Amino acid sequence: MNIYPWQKDLWEIMFSNKTKMPHALLFYGAKTSEINKFVNELVKSLLCNKLSEENFSCGECENCIWGLKNHPDLKIIESDSEKSEKLSVTNVREVKKFLELSSHQTNGKKIVTICNADKLTIAASNSLLKTIEEPPNDCLIILTVKDVANLLPTITSRCRLICFSKPTIEQAKEFLNRTDNKDLISNLELYNNSPLDLLADKETMPNINSILNELKKGRKIDLMNINNYWFENGLFWIINLLQKWAYELLLFKLCRTHNYFPNEKEYIVELSENADLTKLLSHQKSLIQIKSYAETAVNSEINLYSVMIEYKKMFKV
Ligand SMILES: [Zn+2]
Repeated sequence: MNIYPWQKDLWEIMFSNKTKMPHALLFYGAKTSEINKFVNELVKSLLCNKLSEENFSCGECENCIWGLKNHPDLKIIESDSEKSEKLSVTNVREVKKFLELSSHQTNGKKIVTICNADKLTIAASNSLLKTIEEPPNDCLIILTVKDVANLLPTITSRCRLICFSKPTIEQAKEFLNRTDNKDLISNLELYNNSPLDLLADKETMPNINSILNELKKGRKIDLMNINNYWFENGLFWIINLLQKWAYELLLFKLCRTHNYFPNEKEYIVELSENADLTKLLSHQKSLIQIKSYAETAVNSEINLYSVMIEYKKMFKV
């Protein structure tokens, strides 16, 4: 099974009425890497002619051997999500040209996948709209996007929208167990119960623990201990962690409950009772401000030290 366990229901829905599959699908609601992985598996299955009982591709038939890169009935248009590459009218023209050709397989479908469709320019979106409105016979256009709000409403209204759901906490724990990451389960809350976000950040776990050990000291924190590892993952990363810690202190102070750091309850209780509410709110405000420009070229050290001086001073003892 090449999909994540929490996508199983969605997978079954996709194949529940294959003969009536619409000509345009729009997948959204998760990280684009997670969506694109699922969509690749779906496309493989739609092309394969020897599906397994659970509708997974066989990996052996002529269609599977062609693979996603070479199959003559498939076109994948991608934009690198890390770079700010746009998808242009030229890309959409390629799509139209491809769909005009007859399919290689007898009675086969021609499939186009447009990954990270929020990268389409307005002109490209309008050009694509015409194809979605009047699609050639037997074609399937698949769009993927993290947030559906980033697409033109005229596009979304013409597609069947398919939203990804998050794993439940039980599914997330089971997944970490099964992938030999049992030791990370206690950090799930810090990543909003997303095992994929947690795994993507796995390497930073020792850093996080060292930083938390300093933060737990409250007023007694020695600012000389703010070393290179605090900056290793960039200013945005450390400010994000500090924000979650400050939120946890405020949450316990006001609501007597925990969210991100359930394993640090003992320290959170003591620190939040010891923190001055006005100073804690002011500290949070500073973190929000720094985060807004943390990814630009600023002096990380000056910004971090100033906010940590504030942190130290907000505790009464
Ligand atoms: Zn196959």
